[in-house]
Order: sequence, then structure tokens, then C-alpha cells
Amino acid sequence: MAETESDSDSDDGHGDRLKVAISGGSMGGLFTALALDDADRAVDVEIFERSTGELRSRGAGIVAQPTILDFLDAHDIANPEELTTTTTTRQYLDREGAVERAYEESMAFTSWDGLYRRLGDAVPDENYHLGRTTISIDGKGTRTDEVDTESSRLTNGGRGERATLRFENGEILRTDLAVVAEGGQSGSREELLPDVKPEYAGYVAWRGVTPEGSVSASVHEQFEDTFTFYEGSEDLVLAYLIPGPDDSTAAGERRLNWVWYDPIERGERRGLMTDIDGRTHDFSVPPGKLRADVEEALLAAAEERLPGVFDDLVRATDDRFVQTIYDLEVPRTTFGRVCLLGDSAFVARPHTAAGTAKAAADGIALADALEASDRIGSALDDWERTRGKAGRRLVAEGRRMGENYMH
Ligand SMILES: Cc1cc2nc3c(=O)[nH]c(=O)nc-3n(C[C@H](O)[C@H](O)[C@H](O)COP(=O)(O)OP(=O)(O)OC[C@H]3O[C@@H](n4cnc5c(N)ncnc54)[C@H](O)[C@@H]3O)c2cc1C
Repeated sequence: MAETESDSDSDDGHGDRLKVAISGGSMGGLFTALALDDADRAVDVEIFERSTGELRSRGAGIVAQPTILDFLDAHDIANPEELTTTTTTRQYLDREGAVERAYEESMAFTSWDGLYRRLGDAVPDENYHLGRTTISIDGKGTRTDEVDTESSRLTNGGRGERATLRFENGEILRTDLAVVAEGGQSGSREELLPDVKPEYAGYVAWRGVTPEGSVSASVHEQFEDTFTFYEGSEDLVLAYLIPGPDDSTAAGERRLNWVWYDPIERGERRGLMTDIDGRTHDFSVPPGKLRADVEEALLAAAEERLPGVFDDLVRATDDRFVQTIYDLEVPRTTFGRVCLLGDSAFVARPHTAAGTAKAAADGIALADALEASDRIGSALDDWERTRGKAGRRLVAEGRRMGENYMH
């Protein structure tokens, strides 16, 4: 296909505005675009997302951390209360399903699909380009100080140095700043840091979501108002209620979300990743795509190893799926006019319940740094110092928690 080139500040008459292109339109990309859009600085943001339609939910339930709720509120995106379910108790069951210990704890939960939809609705359609896959990215220079020349002052749109994105359809875009928000398997990160690889943590998470009415009243009662756990000798399983598919938090319309961490040998894990259509995935098999033999083994293990209420919950769920748990961290997040954020840079284990909040915090901090400095290079340096440290700390915390839970 012939290559077409565009220069994001040469043809729109807004040369003084900072042009930002974001590769990846999920949580990290959306939070960043919205934070930049609200910054006290003239910024034009465009998102380029590989998927061609609405993104499939890759999570299910998520812990609604204050960073997320405050952002929704401050940006008038949603009333946090309308999007969240809450619990007042954390409880641990024994193998027979009796409550072994419990304590008071207030938690808020939401759903990945609901949050994604609300953030997506807040970004104008004309700035969100579906079906655009970045195949190569260049920040022009490998150290930020190499490009932080006088001509890169934000006030002139940073025209001295540019980032270049090449898309699969042959188009090339030059822009002031390119943000990589492509998730844990980011191709752009691989291009920039070929030696950085996800590190398998030794276990997977079986997951699922089911309407709360799909389980019996006695099973449902066990999960009402609680964040419920079972820690077996080799398993950790947890469940909580999340809003329904239409975001309803009314009793009877919510969904039960569960996650079951299960140690699996490296070789055996690879076998699980081939789906019902014979397609082999690197890290997860999407909902409804587990092979029949994998489903059968899962149900047998649930019966053998989990308390009855969790076994019932797993059985009641139609579209179970599996995700590999891995750690990932980069030695640096900025490459000239390119920066990596969210899961592209650091993937912490889900025990931290902070992946989405971290992606949000990365985007908010980037907007703040660009606002606080009149030079892109020094803004990125400041941003890298704080967010790099936060990312590394979270990955270490996730490892520590995983080692503790999964022995
Ligand atoms: C088992 C499990 C449980 C979790 N539980 C929680 C939880 O309770 N709370 C929480 O906050 N987080 C949780 N997370 C983490 C959370 O889902 C992620 O941290 C969050 O979605 C990261 O957002 P992101 O935008 O960085 O990456 P992603 O959500 O992975 O999005 C990357 C996007 O980039 C697009 N893309 C990729 N490559 C390209 C390309 N070349 N060109 C254009 N687009 C591209 C993809 O299509 C995708 O839309 C959990 C994760 C797992 C695995």
C-alpha cells in the first residue's frame, strides 16, 4: 500500500497547539486523552486504536480506586455512585464454605466495560480512530535531552522535533508527542525495548461474570455486600458484585464477578492458550473461547478444590475465560518524543487491583507535567521520574503479594 504522510500541525491552522497522538484507545489512552484535553494548555489529542469495533471487555470487575472515581467526578463523566457497587465486609471462607474470618472494609467496584464506555463517550468520535494499528514509532532521539532544544518549546507546538507513527494502512503521522498506551503486549514497546519481555508469574487467573440471579438464593446470600475470598493450599479465589451490563447497580440487576488464581506449569499453560477454534493466544483466551476439554478440567478442579459456593459460581457462569498473570517493567518510559504509559510500561499483578488506576494516574501526571513545563523534554523527564518510580513500586508490590498468596 502506498504511504501517505501527514504533519499534524501543518494543515489545520493551529500551529501553536501541542499535537499529541496516542497509540491504543483503552483505559490508558482514554484517561490520557481526557486529562490532556482538560489541561490548561492548548493540546490537540488523537487516539489510534487497533480494534475495529467496541473493545471487548478484557477485564470484568475492577476495584474502583479513588483515582478513577475522582477523575470521573472532576471531569463530569459520571456520578461515581451510579457506576459502582460497594461492600462493607471482607470475608474468608473455609473449604466447607463457612466464614472463617471477616472484618469491616469499605470497597467500591465497577465493571471494565462500563468504565470503558463512559470514558469513550467523553472523547469526541472525530478524535478516536478505530482500526488504526501502529506498526512503528520513532521519537527521534533516544534521550530526552537530545531533543530538548529551544525549538521544542511547547509555545511553538514543538515543531523542532517530532515523533513519527507509521500505521498498518501505510499512513505516516508526524506529531509533537506520541503516547504509547498499547497494553502489556505493546508492539511499539517491543520495537523500542526489544529485550523487555513479560515474565510469567507461575499462575493464571480463571475469570468470569454471571448475572446475580443465575446462582441460587443461598449462594447469592454468601456474596451479598461482601468481598469474599477462599485461600486453599494452591488456590486463591475471590468474588464481588459489579454493576449489570447496562451499568445498573439495583439489586437483581448486578453481576457476580469472580477470579480464581491457579498455579500452572509453564508447558501446561501453553496448552491452555489454544482456543476452541484452534487459535493459540499468547496470554489469554477470551470469554466463550475455552476448549471443551479445558472447561471440563476446570469444572472438575472447582468441584475438587473450591468451597461449594465458589464451585456453584464457576458452574453458573457461561463465558469463562483465562488470563496469564505476568510481571512487566521497563527500564525507561521516554524515548525522545515518545512515551510509554499504562500496561505498556508496567504490568503489576492484579492483586494490587491498581492497573486501571495506574493507567489513569500516568495520564493525569503527563497532562500535569506538560502544563508545568514549557519544554516537552523536561516535562517528560519530570513525568518519567515520578511515574517510573510509581510503576516499579507497584510491580514489586504485586510480586510480593503474589508470593504471599500463591506461596
Ligand atoms: C486478571 C486481571 C485482573 C485485573 N484486575 C484489575 C482490577 O481489579 N483493577 C484494575 O484497576 N485493573 C485490573 N487489571 C488491569 C487492567 O485491566 C489494566 O491495567 C488496564 O486495562 C491497562 O490499560 P492500558 O490502556 O494500559 O492497556 P490495555 O487495556 O491493555 O489497552 C491497550 C489498547 O491498545 C490497543 N493496541 C495494542 N496495540 C496497538 C497498536 N499497535 N496500535 C493501536 N492500538 C493498539 C489494544 O487494542 C487496546 O485497546 C487486571 C488485569 C488482569 C490481567
